[in-house]
Amino acid sequence: MLLTALQLVVLFIVLYMLAPFMITRICGLVVVRRGKAARQVAFTFDDGPNPTYTPRLLDLLQAHDVKATFFVLGSQAEKYPEIIKRMHQEGHQIGIHNYSHTANWVMTPGVVRQEQVERTADIVQQITGERPTSYRPPWGIMNLGDLFNFGFRKSYRIVLWSVMVRDWKRSTTAERLRHRLLRKIKPGSIVLLHDCGETLGADEDAPQQMLEGLQDVLEEVRLKGYKCLRIDEMTDKEREKNYQIDTAIVKKQYKSTMP
Ligand SMILES: [Zn+2]
Repeated sequence: MLLTALQLVVLFIVLYMLAPFMITRICGLVVVRRGKAARQVAFTFDDGPNPTYTPRLLDLLQAHDVKATFFVLGSQAEKYPEIIKRMHQEGHQIGIHNYSHTANWVMTPGVVRQEQVERTADIVQQITGERPTSYRPPWGIMNLGDLFNFGFRKSYRIVLWSVMVRDWKRSTTAERLRHRLLRKIKPGSIVLLHDCGETLGADEDAPQQMLEGLQDVLEEVRLKGYKCLRIDEMTDKEREKNYQIDTAIVKKQYKSTMP
C-alpha cells in the first residue's frame, strides 16, 4: 500500500531529525559530551563573537589564566575578525557553530557542509592561519546526513556539552548561574555558555549576567583543584600527552597505553 503524504512527512521527520537527535543528544554516540573523569573542565562559549561581551569575556579569562573554546558563527567572525584574532593569540580554541545560526534540520547535508561549516572554517583560517577542527551545530541538532557523512566527521570533532544552565535568558541571574554551575560541574564536564545573546530565543543582554556569575565560578573551580582545558586538550591524545595532568586516574590510563 502506498504511503500517504502525511505518513511520508512523519517518516521523514523521524529519520532525518529524530533519529540523529536520539543518537547524539540522548545516547551521546558519535559526539563528545564530556572528558575523562579527572579534575578537569572545559568552558565553551557559543554564538559569538559579540563586540560588547566577547572582549570582556576574554579579559576575564585572561585574568584567571583560563583557556576556553569558542564555537563561533562565520557571519560574526567576518564582522569582527579582530576579536577572532585576539582569541587565537590568547591561546583559546576556535570551533565552528555554522555560518548563520540555522538548524541543520532545515538544510541538506551538502548545504550544512559547504555553506555553513567549510565557509566558516575558511573565514577563521583566513584570520588566524589555523583551520578549526571542532564543530558544534546550533542547538546541538544534526540531520541524518551529517551523521553518516564520515568525511565530515573525520575533519571535525562534533562537540556537544554535559552542563547547560539557561544562561541565554535574562531570568538566569548571575547568582543563579553561579549556583547552577557549581552544582553541576563534575570532573570532565563540558560547560555550554553564550557570549552573544542575539540568536533566536536568547535575551540580548543575558551575557552580562553570565560574565558576572562566571567570575566567581572560575575562582571556585580553581580552589576545588580543577584545570580548565580547551576541548582539544581534553580530548586529543597527543595534546593530553603534552599536558601536565596531575590526577591519579589519568596517570593510570597513560601507563596502560604506553609501550
Ligand atoms: Zn548557538
